[in-house]
Amino acid sequence: MNILEDVSTPRRTKEIIARHGFKFKKSLGQNFLIDQNILGKIVAAAGLDESKGALEIGPGIGALTEKLAQEAGKVAAVEIDRRLIPILREVMEPYPQVNVIQGDVLDLDLRALFEAEFGDVSGVSVVANLPYYVTTPILMKLLEEKLPLEHIVVMIQKEVAQRMAASPGGKEYGSLSIAVQYYSKPELICMVPPTVFIPQPNVESAVIRLTVRDEPPVQVDDEAFFFEVVQSSFTQRRKTIANNLKSRFFSGEGRETLERLLAEAEIEPSRRAETLSLEEFARLSNVFLGAGLNS
Ligand code: SAM
Repeated sequence: MNILEDVSTPRRTKEIIARHGFKFKKSLGQNFLIDQNILGKIVAAAGLDESKGALEIGPGIGALTEKLAQEAGKVAAVEIDRRLIPILREVMEPYPQVNVIQGDVLDLDLRALFEAEFGDVSGVSVVANLPYYVTTPILMKLLEEKLPLEHIVVMIQKEVAQRMAASPGGKEYGSLSIAVQYYSKPELICMVPPTVFIPQPNVESAVIRLTVRDEPPVQVDDEAFFFEVVQSSFTQRRKTIANNLKSRFFSGEGRETLERLLAEAEIEPSRRAETLSLEEFARLSNVFLGAGLNS
């Protein structure tokens, strides 16, 4: 074996897996990347340099980790599967700037991890080929905790990426689009076929970049209530916004009040939630809050 060959080449990936007798666990979303071109696109989209840090979630055997180590000044990689830790320690040996941490990213105190790992870098991005079974909880944790992140560049299932980046008016636009766009600016970087993974997943994938916002793009007086109004508006997509909101906030009487509040927010009762912009949802939730509907 050529000692300089990247971990991510199909040959070396297969060699490492065979030598360690590693068996893939489908339940952990283990689909390892073996394509230099896609790995290059992921890393390039994060805009890393020596002064920056990268947090990787789910390094696997280190295909992406190695590329990150070649660009960033500091890399922390969180892997849940204990069987992969000795493999990662072995393949990351030439890269002292990489710290491999065993754990479930959903249980970790990420703020403490940031302080411990990235105290001395000028900016941190999350870069990962995410396990698809927990994509949304992981991304919402990163965004809701308001970590000091520059970008989140992730490989995820294509349909989920399209929902995150969707504009109002289409069937892909929903509460996930609104939540992601409230905290970040999403851009689809590229679509990815199943053939670039071992083993191949059953779905198409996409790389998406979320540029994390310093401030939300709209004025929201109560964030938790804003997201409650959004969720309620999408309860039944085929129903009008008035009907969805009525079921949640105006049981029995109250149609008149609902129509007055919708008029105050300048929203036609006959519209469907999928046509409302972030700004309109913000206006609506602020008007509802003013009317005391959060209690
Ligand atoms: N980064 C590698 C690559 O691109 O080849 C592996 C990506 S694979 C799609 C997802 C990885 O996430 C697996 O190594 C899996 O064990 C790990 N993983 C799954 N759930 C996790 C969790 N909750 N926290 C941390 N890692 C997790």
